[in-house]
Amino acid sequence: MDNATREVFGNIAPSMQLVFFAMILASFAWLAWQLEQHRRQWRKARRPGFTRDWRVWLERLAIYAAAQKRVHKKSLGALLHLLLFSGFVVLTIGTTLLAIAHDGPYDFHHGWYYLIYELTMDVFGVAFILGCLLAIYRRAFRKPRSLGHNWSDWWLLSVLLSLGVTGFAVEAFRMHYTQVPPPVAHWSIVGWLLDRTLLQGLDVPTAQSIHLAVWWVHAILVGLLFATLPVNRFLHIITGPLNIATRPDRAMGALAPLTIEEVEETGRTGVAELHDFTQSQLLSLDACMECGRCEDACPATASGKPLSPKAVVIDLQRLMSLGGGNVHQTIQDETLWACTMCQACVQECPVLIGHVDLIDDMRRDLVGEGRLAGPPARALQQIGNQSNPYGRPNAERLAWAEGLDVPTVDSNPEFEYLFWVGCAASFDPRAQKIARSTVELLTKAGVSFAVLGREETCTGDPARRIGDEFLFQERAQANIETLKRRKVSKIVTPCPHCYNTFRNEYPQFGGHYEVRHHSTLLAELIAQKRLTNQHKSDDPITLHDPCYLARVNGESAAPREVIGATRDKHYREMPRCGKKTFCCGAGGGRMWFEEAPEERVSRLRAAEAVATGAKTLATACPFCLNMMSDGMAGTPGGEQTRVLDIAELLLERQSRELER
Ligand code: SF4
Ligand code: SF4
Repeated sequence: MDNATREVFGNIAPSMQLVFFAMILASFAWLAWQLEQHRRQWRKARRPGFTRDWRVWLERLAIYAAAQKRVHKKSLGALLHLLLFSGFVVLTIGTTLLAIAHDGPYDFHHGWYYLIYELTMDVFGVAFILGCLLAIYRRAFRKPRSLGHNWSDWWLLSVLLSLGVTGFAVEAFRMHYTQVPPPVAHWSIVGWLLDRTLLQGLDVPTAQSIHLAVWWVHAILVGLLFATLPVNRFLHIITGPLNIATRPDRAMGALAPLTIEEVEETGRTGVAELHDFTQSQLLSLDACMECGRCEDACPATASGKPLSPKAVVIDLQRLMSLGGGNVHQTIQDETLWACTMCQACVQECPVLIGHVDLIDDMRRDLVGEGRLAGPPARALQQIGNQSNPYGRPNAERLAWAEGLDVPTVDSNPEFEYLFWVGCAASFDPRAQKIARSTVELLTKAGVSFAVLGREETCTGDPARRIGDEFLFQERAQANIETLKRRKVSKIVTPCPHCYNTFRNEYPQFGGHYEVRHHSTLLAELIAQKRLTNQHKSDDPITLHDPCYLARVNGESAAPREVIGATRDKHYREMPRCGKKTFCCGAGGGRMWFEEAPEERVSRLRAAEAVATGAKTLATACPFCLNMMSDGMAGTPGGEQTRVLDIAELLLERQSRELER
């Protein structure tokens, strides 16, 4: 066994080896030239959009490229990708090692190393072929719509499958004509089995001739694969890891700030021309593998709106391949306005493409050019004039508190928590009950808190997400000033959008706070036995996770603790929950857009909640409360389902406790 090894170019004459190396060199040179054309397009963007931090880059590559974190899930697509990816990587590394051993100064390709090498290559070769077959089966029979179907996909799969099959054929014919004896032959298990079953009786010269022919087919396929890589979805094996490494290092909930200098440079407030995007964004377009995961998760696509996050990326990619141009001639305004900014696409994308950044940058230009009209334009105007999107005088900020003894920053200047009510819970009659319930709970638990009253204004979240960046920045700076004057260090809010803005976006402007969503604080108070959540009802209950709480900020345990989900045998989980939650339809400023009832995302979500059999749907966001109430009203069976915020539910349980 110590002497076990095999020939590398044993059957290939030196002149043929030269032809082979010339062909591979030409193929790689062509690939490099093509990649350079892509790089030139990326470099046409003025701003890089990424920072060079090797530690972060390596960490991301380990998690998302090597360990394929985003790909793992129970689906045929994930399984076949894993098989293809692991097979391709191991076979490529193996072939490189073989070349080093053959042409380098040290020949280590023998003994136990050789035997383990052969076995590993065979196992991953089988995985690779299996991956190809599953991909062909899925494409031919299951035909998922979001996957897309191009002629180049069939070409790619044929080349990959042929590579795998000819690889094993080369091994079998080589083993046959070199007469590899057992037990060494057993380590090349597939080649040995093929030899023992299919090649028995074949004479050595014929085996040698066929080996030569198949070897050439295999070699030409390798050359073709790399030469055509830039014109099919396989390009992502290069651009995917590049994008994973260099994507901007920003929290999911934080949009990129726009500066006056940038506006002066381009003369626009967002992206109008393709090369107004950053280099990092242009690279991301080329990283798309067209898997369709983003589209499958998109509530706008699901509700029949003219938006597919995948199509946005592919359309921009096509524009780039044509040398650039005006993005609005490629992407319709309606497409951009349809986005709820729920981040489901971003969460799903295996190569970390930032769809929301792309969409928001283009929205900024539409707003800057005055191409927004109707209720959302009015909401922006009202944020500017009345400091809230509802257009109510800010003097009415405390109307929700009528009859309650709510401490203000004046009456309780030594407060621990600032209770940031948010515009929805301040002005929306239904959502006001969230503010009232939270105040009652905090008071009962003895929490020291205060509200700003008329000093509170919109955080600017809807303005930023609709695309009015400077209106957002104006609000952010004014609020940060107020919070500084009132010496605020801890904030609690029932609104996940305010929570996200304080947590992830105000730090961009110097506002740093310890911020909690009310679910987190209420869960802590329950754990400290300052509140009770004993549930005596037999009515089934379910929970809708708000996108900006669960997906964007990773908080899905606290709302469940507040409603006692883990101890409640009547609790029902919806199929899409936690980080994988499904939007209610209000985000991204959609709250202020008019839409036909049949296009409402909330109806899809309400149907999902009704299907659990729950009689109560708990939410943890004033916008979700509003949307889900509307969704239930238009969904068969929904009229019997109560929609309540977790604070309202918890307060109900305190009352029952008191009654007992
Ligand atoms: S953020 Fe949500 S609505 Fe917008 S494109 Fe992505 S998945 Fe669709
Ligand atoms: S953008 Fe990402 S998730 Fe969407 S198709 Fe491309 S690679 Fe897949």
